[in-house]
Amino acid sequence: MALSSIIGMAQSEMISNPIGSVFAREGGETPAGTFRFTSGGYEVYTIHSSDKSSQPVSLYYGENNVDKEKVDAMAPDGCVPTSMSYFLVKTTDGIVMFDTGLPSAKGGKTEEHLSSLNISPKDIKAVYLTHGHFDHIGGLLDNDGNAVFPNATLYISSDELASIRTSMSEATARIEKAYIGRLVAFGFGEILPGNVLPISAKDHTPGHTAYRLGQLLFVGDLMHGASLQLLDPTICANYDADRQQAIDSRNRILSYAVSNSLTVLCAHVPGNGIIF
Ligand SMILES: [Zn+2]
Repeated sequence: MALSSIIGMAQSEMISNPIGSVFAREGGETPAGTFRFTSGGYEVYTIHSSDKSSQPVSLYYGENNVDKEKVDAMAPDGCVPTSMSYFLVKTTDGIVMFDTGLPSAKGGKTEEHLSSLNISPKDIKAVYLTHGHFDHIGGLLDNDGNAVFPNATLYISSDELASIRTSMSEATARIEKAYIGRLVAFGFGEILPGNVLPISAKDHTPGHTAYRLGQLLFVGDLMHGASLQLLDPTICANYDADRQQAIDSRNRILSYAVSNSLTVLCAHVPGNGIIF
């Protein structure tokens, strides 16, 4: 480790994540609703789209309450800690985002948060979408249906795009119109501009995608209740579309992260959304 980073570490503040990991917040305070850290030359921000911090445990009971007993024992107070976050990364090639948070009509403050970080939506070069749920794509459009990010290219898996064109056709058409010529649908395994590797993380949704950038792994909604699902990845939130595929993806991607020593960034992990 270089001397400068050792000095940097000494100046940073040690924080404990609600799920138990301890990590360093670097560079002092960031604006409310944001959290900053660095990894391999990337400057990374967690941005909270909502103050929501817990969910009812019943969300994890499963079909016919099959997991009720197990889940109640793991969360005896009836609550599971959560968050609603998305991520921004400053790279040497420009600023990119992984998801965009809630729509402003539902309380999202994407533009406000960027401005508090002295970033203009014009500065965003790419937005990598994990999936099409409203708490992930909501920040793409303003209240008039215009593109919030006038210079960004959007990336979404072809499977997810096909799925949302059917399941939420009007909202998808609005996005496709606002970002015409700037929406790229990709297949898994292609390396995207910015050296971002998309990895299939189905089936929270039919094209749900994790993205690897350096030692960072953005996993979207691979987990909704990390305090339960890190201990037992077979537990699903009711939001998972195909439970068995979601379980398989959770096991595969968490093992991949562990075996490659990746930092996992998850939209609904409590606190800062990070698992080291
Ligand atoms: Zn979500």
